[in-house]
This record gives sequence, structure tokens and C-alpha cells, in this order.
Amino acid sequence: MSPRDDRAGFELALAVAEGLLVDSRTLLDGDLLRRASNLRAVSTVSVGLDHIDLEAARERRIAVTTTPVLSDAVADLVLALMIMLTRRLPEAARAATSGRWSQALLGNDLGGKVLLLVGFGRIGQEVARRSLACKMRVGYWDRRDDLPLVEGVERELDFEGALRAADFVSLHVDLNASTAHLIGSKELALMKPTAFLVNTARGGVVDQEALRRALAEGRLAGAALDVLEQEPPLAGEPLLSEPRAIVVPHIGSATVETRAAMLELGIDNLLGCLHGDSGRYAVVDPRRPVSSDLP
Ligand code: NAD
Repeated sequence: MSPRDDRAGFELALAVAEGLLVDSRTLLDGDLLRRASNLRAVSTVSVGLDHIDLEAARERRIAVTTTPVLSDAVADLVLALMIMLTRRLPEAARAATSGRWSQALLGNDLGGKVLLLVGFGRIGQEVARRSLACKMRVGYWDRRDDLPLVEGVERELDFEGALRAADFVSLHVDLNASTAHLIGSKELALMKPTAFLVNTARGGVVDQEALRRALAEGRLAGAALDVLEQEPPLAGEPLLSEPRAIVVPHIGSATVETRAAMLELGIDNLLGCLHGDSGRYAVVDPRRPVSSDLP
């Protein structure tokens, strides 16, 4: 049962439930978690956590676990989106099917282009490996100092300078207070008019209205979005009809293999927590000291 389908039924069930298996579409705010008096574990079949009030979970000593087995699938999609943008694939497919056969639909090579990864966690690192194989020049910007070295990838310390230099900017930060609208009109204005933005992180990382304006005014060459601020988008969402935008419906982890692995791990996580072992995928673990368990 999900609160999306039946809010009242969900709340009734939540009043007795000890464990919850959810995905990123189920909003678990503090109010709801505080009222779920029997709840001991939330297993989310996702790595994003912005749908769960972690502070409230910690207060209530509810374990929260994730399924970080999707990085390859998301990184593959990022590569696909970068190639779609730079090789004009949607336009080329439309041309072929509408009788405009043209071998002169020129795009650009990925090789030699500068890719800035904003966020260099699990997914950012996988995108780096794939992009290096395509001979791109890869840099990253991340607030953490303890990230593993990936040969050939430079850490950028000047965010604005890195945005100015990039041909592609791909977003891989989690959505939190410091990343909400991280890419807004100021950041978009720093990017080259020939640059592309790819967002497979969360819609809220980008100021969507500022992006729409930058694309419509030709100040950015294109954007590919797997995530939007409002999902599903409202009817008439302008980005859906913006010719420079490619929008896909949050399919980052949507492969048969990855979704099966996520579900299996999500169930294991939940059963583990209910049997007193939060395991290695816990981001809130009631057994650990309070201050060290939030991401
Ligand atoms: P991760 O936690 O391994 O990496 C996130 C990185 O962002 C971390 O290295 C962190 O230090 C960095 N970061 C956070 N705030 C920052 C800030 N203000 N400045 C600089 N760096 C900052 O997470 P991941 O597994 O790589 O996933 C990243 C995000 O991708 C998830 O949080 C989720 O929202 C999104 N995601 C989307 C899909 C999809 O289907 N499109 C699938 C999985 C994950």
C-alpha cells in the first residue's frame, strides 16, 4: 500500500507497522514518522533520501537503509544522455521518420570535451570512468575531502571557474539544503552557450524556470533531465516542449537487473533491521552514536 494511492489507508497501516519498504516517491515527513509509534525500520529502494525526514527518524530511533546498487545503471544513462545531446539523436530520429533523410546533421565529438561532475560520490565516479573511456577531460567538484582518487580526474576547487570551462556539466549531488537550486540563473549564466547540462540527481538541484529561460534564449546549448522539480510534471510543463531539452521520466535505475537487485537488497535490509541488524546500508542506525549516522 502506498500513500500515493490511499493516504488514509496508509496512515492506518502505519500506526501498526514495524517496518516499511518504500521508494523515492513516498514522502515520509517528520509528522508521519512521529505518529508511527511501532515503526522500527524504513527500507528505501533508492539511494536518494530527500523523501525521508532523517532527523525525525533518528529522534524516533527508526533505522533507515538504502540500496546503493544502481550506480552503473545511472552512469550508463548519463553517457546515453550526453551522446543524445551532442549527436542530436532526437532530432536525427525525427528527421529519418519524417522523410528528411540527411547525413549532414552534424554533432560534436565527446573526445577532448571538458566534463564537470558536480558531486563525486558513487554515481559521479562511475560516470567519470565511462567518460574517460570516451576520451573526455573530467573534473569534479565535491565538498568531501576524503574521496578516492580516480586516475585522470582532477578535483576542482573553484566552482565558478569550473562551470565556465565545462562543455558538459553533470549533476550527482544528493538533494539537501546546500544543493537546492545549486544550479540557478547565476550558474547557468557562467556556462558557455555551447555547453550542455545533464541532471540525473534530483529536480530540486536545478532552478527549472531559470533553466527553461536559458534554453529558450539560446544561452545554453541543451539539457537532458531524468528528474524534475515536480514528478510527474504538471500538464503544460514548459520544459517538455522546449526543443533544446531532452526529458526522460526518472529512469536512472530502470534496468531489469538493477531494479531486481535493488528490490532484493531492500527486502534484505528491512528483514535485517527488524531482526536487530541494520547492516552496512544503514544511513540511520539506532545502534550507532547519535551524531555520526547522518549522511
Ligand atoms: P553519494 O552520496 O555517493 O554522492 C553524493 C555526493 O554529493 C557526495 O560525494 C557528497 O559529498 C556530494 N555533495 C552533497 N552536497 C554537496 C554540496 N553542497 N557540495 C558539493 N558536493 C556535495 O550518492 P550517489 O549514490 O552518487 O547518488 C547521488 C544522487 O543521485 C542521489 O542522492 C539521488 O538523489 C540521485 N539518484 C538518482 C537516480 C535516478 O534514477 N535518476 C538514481 C539514483 C540516485
